[in-house]
Amino acid sequence: MTHEEIKESLSAYSDGQLGPEQAGEIAAHLSGCTGCSAALRELGGLSAGVKQALSASAPAAMKERVLAGARVKKPLLRPAALLAGALAALIFALLAGVAAKRFMPAMFAQVQGMINGAAGALGGGK
Ligand SMILES: [Zn+2]
Repeated sequence: MTHEEIKESLSAYSDGQLGPEQAGEIAAHLSGCTGCSAALRELGGLSAGVKQALSASAPAAMKERVLAGARVKKPLLRPAALLAGALAALIFALLAGVAAKRFMPAMFAQVQGMINGAAGALGGGK
């Protein structure tokens, strides 16, 4: 096998997919070829990294991602929360107004009369 052939077979070699004859030939070449042994180390590092990524508990990675997302989103969430609070207050005021009109018509009429009276007084003061 040539250097190039061996280099192309290194992935299979590191995965143990080669026969003993080929593996022996590659092992012999590796001992005298720094390029191929470096490439094999790289392959080993890569596959080890992939194995680590696969075996790493997904919940931990997810938690980290969620935490990172929360760190980014927190400042953005504040104005939205304020807006939601203001909206809730507005809706509450509207509902309270509707409830007052529906359940306390006398009081509502009284308030309306007061407002009309005040408007009239203002108009009359001119
Ligand atoms: Zn080589």
